[in-house]
Amino acid sequence: MVPIKDLNREVAQDIRYILMDIDDTITTNGKLPAAAYSALWKLHNNGFVVVPVTGRPAGWCDLIARQWPVDGVVGENGALAFWEEEGHMKRMFHENAVNNTHHTLQEIKEKILLEIPGTRIAGDQFSRMFDIAIDFAEEEPKLSLTVAQKIKEMCTNMGAIAKVSSIHVNTWMGQYDKLSMAIRFLEKQCNYNDKRDNQQVLFFGDSPNDEPMFSHFHQSVGVASILDYKEMMKILPTYITSFKGGEGFSEGVDTLLSAKGITNYS
Ligand SMILES: [Mg+2]
Repeated sequence: MVPIKDLNREVAQDIRYILMDIDDTITTNGKLPAAAYSALWKLHNNGFVVVPVTGRPAGWCDLIARQWPVDGVVGENGALAFWEEEGHMKRMFHENAVNNTHHTLQEIKEKILLEIPGTRIAGDQFSRMFDIAIDFAEEEPKLSLTVAQKIKEMCTNMGAIAKVSSIHVNTWMGQYDKLSMAIRFLEKQCNYNDKRDNQQVLFFGDSPNDEPMFSHFHQSVGVASILDYKEMMKILPTYITSFKGGEGFSEGVDTLLSAKGITNYS
């Protein structure tokens, strides 16, 4: 990882697609700061394709696709993508996505709640379609990353897929991830060709569930808090910001716009 200030003009000139995780990448202590929301608008107003890629649920994605200055949103760690088109909400679901009423997920849920003290189902579970989210750090009591890893292992040992974000452990059946759905969405909606256009993407993330994106895209940014997860990750982003969360995202966007010579921030 090199500091984001080292993003050079030649690399910046190619960037057209901005993808970003949400929690602790554009939020700070659970809130979306004005600077980060403003950064989304700056990107949108300057013609970038803006797509959040998150573990957050279908219910949140409906709101984001309708109200935020974005071209679409990938949610539930790649199970779905929502976007607006000609005044209508459009939805795409990964063909491997399995409804979260699956018996294995229900068994996993019961086992974790029984065997790991302090765990609870995430508060946003009611609006999820395909995964179960175990909260370890969104609400109190905050549990350690070691506990999160233990939850993940229990999920995978019982035959599910599991990813650790900065706040939840998400578990689901079926092979998909943030990366595969993000590429599909861009190909379907934006005439993106992954072989041809990879250099045009800049991805922002903060934690281990962003690793497939860091690995695939030639240009990626970790906000400063990624250092907390360094030991758990095999692949790190290209750049790192000096600030954490939403302030780090805003710093990265301003650096990109400045490197591209964009001074009209309106
Ligand atoms: Mg995150």
